[in-house]
Amino acid sequence: MSQTGNDMENLERGKGRINETKAVADVDGNIIGELINKSQEAKEFAYCPYSKFRVGAAVLAPNGMIFTGCNVENACYSLGICAERTAISKAVSEGYRHFRAIAIASDLSEQIISPCGGCRQFMREFGAHWDVYLTKPDGSFLKMSVEELLPVSFGPADLKGAKV
Ligand SMILES: [Zn+2]
Repeated sequence: MSQTGNDMENLERGKGRINETKAVADVDGNIIGELINKSQEAKEFAYCPYSKFRVGAAVLAPNGMIFTGCNVENACYSLGICAERTAISKAVSEGYRHFRAIAIASDLSEQIISPCGGCRQFMREFGAHWDVYLTKPDGSFLKMSVEELLPVSFGPADLKGAKV
């Protein structure tokens, strides 16, 4: 089940296989607008019968591929998963491990949606220096880095640190 380095590189470039997501134009501003649109579209699929709090997310890979996710709740409340982790998990399961940005959308009209602590750590697994767009339904946003959202973070490299 393991993939070779070349296979992984090809997947990162989008050459590996076809999936359901689509590539977008490579003009940076347009990509972010598209990313926010995709996060809002993903919100429509939110399964949140308990919280009634819809969230959508869209994560952008370096080659322009976008993977979307929504929150998926469960009658066993603690099993619910956030939109951000759904989107990132979809991307990782398609061979992507590096990301440029993620956009998060909710129905909050007066404030941006902010990722929970668990999702901040989940993002951090794939680097501290990529962008998070915290948006409002009108498309306005606050751009922050993963590092800004989760300072002095714990990441994969820390597991390799010197031990007593
Ligand atoms: Zn979360």
